[in-house]
This record gives sequence, structure tokens and C-alpha cells, in this order.
Amino acid sequence: MEAAVFKGVGNPLSIEQVDEPSVRPGDLLIKVEYCGICGSDLHATEAGALVVPDGQILGHEFTGTVVEMGAEVGGDWSVGDHVTAVPVNACAECGRQCRLGMGIHCPNNIITGFGAPGAYAEYIRVDAGNALRLPQGLGFREGATAEPLSVGHHVIDKAGMRPGTNVLVIGAGPIGLSCATFARFSGARHVVVSEFAENRRERALAMGATAAIDPDASDVTEQYAAIAGGPPDLVIECVGVPGMLGLCVDLVKHQGKVMVCGVCTNEESFIPLAALAKEVCLQWALGYKPRDFEVVLDLLASRRIDPAPLITHVIGFDDLAARFEKLRTPTDECKVLLRPQRN
Ligand SMILES: [Zn+2]
Ligand SMILES: [Zn+2]
Repeated sequence: MEAAVFKGVGNPLSIEQVDEPSVRPGDLLIKVEYCGICGSDLHATEAGALVVPDGQILGHEFTGTVVEMGAEVGGDWSVGDHVTAVPVNACAECGRQCRLGMGIHCPNNIITGFGAPGAYAEYIRVDAGNALRLPQGLGFREGATAEPLSVGHHVIDKAGMRPGTNVLVIGAGPIGLSCATFARFSGARHVVVSEFAENRRERALAMGATAAIDPDASDVTEQYAAIAGGPPDLVIECVGVPGMLGLCVDLVKHQGKVMVCGVCTNEESFIPLAALAKEVCLQWALGYKPRDFEVVLDLLASRRIDPAPLITHVIGFDDLAARFEKLRTPTDECKVLLRPQRN
């Protein structure tokens, strides 16, 4: 089968013929229809803490069709089923986190596309226990947004956000947009997205933001107060570069909360006194639970969430390597989907 293979930091992804995955007793073999390119995939191919080994096939945001089932797969599944899968391969027995559905914290977890072979490929195998059927009416293309949307769903859940909350989202990449969507969906009063790029601000408005501001135009605190009457109750950091924590602490109201979901692999520094003086709550959020996926799939299928503005490009293998490198300095892209089938 055709797949994109990581060849070490500094090299473009290599499109190659590789062996199809062999199906183990509990696996489904999936013919991949769409796979999203994620910011994490970019981090995983740069020098730093998250880099994956040479030979890795990336890709964890996918949909496809079941084409083969392992001998022990139960009667819930059939060849031809349309599916996605939670890209978390936890052991389910090491301790509390696995049993509570937080397999992402399992020390034995091997994430799909970051250890386990991913879906920048024509076929991927998944443990049937991690597969989720696409509900009736949900297409492969829209279904491929379930993973980044599940991140936003988890962030808002983890924030314990109450109806009427005034929210500020920093950054309008896929995760910022996803957070804005679920803040709005969960009853936020103001959902303001701060973003430098005009096309991304427009996309934020299409994905549920009630306002979008340009941090270059004037002071963000003043712009936010002009809209919401005061500082935000909840700031959601979706950029992931050094300096953001201090900025968020400065922006949030006294006794407000900062949710951190940007992936920052560099050293950060800020003055703790600023957070102490405000009694700020700093909370990180990682990934999702299977339940986040289930809810998101339902909301997508019933058209209560529209993922269309997220998806800006659909490409094939011929364009993947170049587009992947280009995404390191994003311009007009938001979510780029790979369509690995050539027919
Ligand atoms: Zn992702
Ligand atoms: Zn475990």
C-alpha cells in the first residue's frame, strides 16, 4: 500500500510502498478515506521532546471503511462499516486512568500515528475496542474532524464552564476554533477569539465565536472589555509558544481560569506573583476521553455542529510532503485533509 513515511528531522515525508498492516485477532483493518494533518504531527517531526522514530507513519484523525476483521472481533462490526477510532491504545488494566476512560494517561499507551502506525496510508489497523461507527448521515470528510473537535469538547468539559461565562480564546487554529465552537455550544455569553490572521478571524466567527479581535490592532484587554464589559472569566490558550502563560494570566479576570491546550515544547517563564495576586486557576487539558468522541460524532451527524469552516484543503499523496512542510509556517490553511486513495 501507499503511505507517507517519516525519514528523520529535516527531511520531507517520503511517499512509499509499504506492507499493509497485518490484522491481529482484535483488530479491524480500515481502508482510510480521509486523514487530517494535525499540529501535533508537525511537532512530532521537529527536533524536541515529541519527535517520533524514523519510519513512523503519522496520522491520527481519520475515517474509513472496515475491510477486514480479526478472528476475535465480535458481532458489533461488519465489513463495510464506516468508522473512525480514538487514537489512544491504552492497556485498560494498569490502573485507574485506563479504567476511567483516560487511557491517554496510561503509561502503556501507544498513540496512533506517534508509535502505532498511523493513517497517512491507504490502510490502518485499529483495535476494535477503539473504533467508533460514524452515525447515519455523517460523511467521511466531516467525520475526520471528530478528533480535533473532541479536543475542544474535552477542554470545555475540563474547564467546568458554566452558562454565561465570558471566554477569550487565543489563537484560531483548529484547536482554537474547536474550543470556540464548544464554548458557544455550552452556553458561553461572549466567545471572543484573538488572532493575527484575518482569514482565521473570519473562520472563528463561522465556527461559533461571537467576536474576533486582532491583537495587533490595539490592546487585547481593552478590545475585550469593549465587547464584554470587563476581563474574561475563562482564557483558553491555543498557541503554544513561550510567553503565553504570562499573557493569559494578565488577561484573565481575578479568580478566573486559564485553560492551556497549546503544545509548547520550549521553556516557558512567567512571574508567578501575577497569578498569585489574582488567584488564577491554571489548568491543562490533554486529548480526550472516548465519550468526547461519541458526543462530537452525534453533534456532527445531527448537524448541531458544522465543521465545514475548519476544512480548508483536501490533498492527495502527491501534494502531501510539500504541504506538510508548508504548514510549519501556516498561511491560509486550517485543517488540511489527506485523501490517501488514488481512485
Ligand atoms: Zn490531532
Ligand atoms: Zn493502562
